[in-house]
Amino acid sequence: MIGLMRKRTSAWQKDTSKVFKFAEGYMEFLAKAKTERAATKTIAATLEKNGFKELSKSKILKAGDKVYHNQKGKSIIAAVIGKQNDRFNLVGSHIDSPRLDLKPNPLFEDSSIALLKTHYYGGIKKYQWVNVDLALYGVIHTKDGKKIELCIGEKDDEPRFLMSDLLPHLSKKQMEKKADEIIEGEQLNIFIGNIPLEAKEGKEKVKANILKILNKDYGIVEDDFSFAELNFIPAGKPREIGFDRSMIAGYGQDDKSCSYANLMSILDVKTPAVTAIAYFSDKEEIGSYGNTGAQSYILLDFAEQLVQKLGLKTSPKEMLRQSKAISADVSAGLDPSFHESHEERNAAIIGEGVVIEKYTGSGGKYSANDTHAEYMNEIRQLMLKNDVRFQASEIGKIDIGGGGTIALYLSRFGMDTVDAGPAVLGMHSPREIISKVDLYESYKLYRAFLA
Ligand code: MN
Ligand code: MN
Repeated sequence: MIGLMRKRTSAWQKDTSKVFKFAEGYMEFLAKAKTERAATKTIAATLEKNGFKELSKSKILKAGDKVYHNQKGKSIIAAVIGKQNDRFNLVGSHIDSPRLDLKPNPLFEDSSIALLKTHYYGGIKKYQWVNVDLALYGVIHTKDGKKIELCIGEKDDEPRFLMSDLLPHLSKKQMEKKADEIIEGEQLNIFIGNIPLEAKEGKEKVKANILKILNKDYGIVEDDFSFAELNFIPAGKPREIGFDRSMIAGYGQDDKSCSYANLMSILDVKTPAVTAIAYFSDKEEIGSYGNTGAQSYILLDFAEQLVQKLGLKTSPKEMLRQSKAISADVSAGLDPSFHESHEERNAAIIGEGVVIEKYTGSGGKYSANDTHAEYMNEIRQLMLKNDVRFQASEIGKIDIGGGGTIALYLSRFGMDTVDAGPAVLGMHSPREIISKVDLYESYKLYRAFLA
């Protein structure tokens, strides 16, 4: 039978009610948790509602206790203390997604239009982000100490923002360019106004009018942009896709799909055999750096607090070394219109269950965690026992690209770690697609791992 494709089995089963019900909650979460700040807020509120308390407020911990740590409003760790408490099982996902951030001096006027200059965050195909309705999210701290949180463009009566692409009539030269030059970094300029301030003398009357509005509505002056954190995000809610409503299209499913499944899993945990941890990290899309990224000492600090509050003799490093992890991140699904980029025997297919990835990386497994066979099999046994539908895959053809996750930053503590999550089509685009059943099977795996 040499030459036949590996056996493929759909994860869709007869009774889809649980899958659809789970997807409903997910779509609400996805609409609310678009940035890491918004996601942290939503996750913290959900944890509080379900009996989790801030770790800093507990002096002593015991089995069954539910605690969390909020790292600067951009990253969060939740734990349920287990009967065995000198180690833990951790599911780690990330809550940041590719987007457009404002430059320090973003505001200018050209051809009677006021615009904001942006610098893209994460790996994007820039041409995908023009002609897309954008919402503005973020935080500004004014000189006199006021904190202004912005979210403009999600409500029906709010304006949105947009970058235009060149009209086809004048695009002969543009169409001859390579795709990564069609829209260049310095063309990521967003339309924000067109009405001039008539009272003003000289040039830049439209810019002056925008500044007048910003000052009147929010108390912002131009200098405040330099000290702010503002992100342009695709506006609007996720939607069901297909006559059968089997798929979901929406912004930020890398990695909010895993993050929602992770959150729902930790909420299901009662008193686990081993301490259960759900970790929601930031800055994965730009290398996991910074004090809210997975390369920071946040997990070591968390372990130190657990050791201290549980009164254990073990060291925080020993606790981490004895622990196990799932790096909950999405993989690339085989796109039927782009077969040439996938190696079909080893590609993930949407609707065929959670994707288990032994390794990620690129160029000969470079930067990969590459999970040991012993741990791969442990996860396989767990999936078989819990009737989790799964597929073992890698991201795409060798040497055409690649990608990373936080797996290597978890495993360096000594934890066994494997990547697992749903497959995504159109990853890092303003509108990514997943299959509802893959989300559900991911949840089943994370839940079984943490329970
Ligand atoms: Mn990811
Ligand atoms: Mn990503």
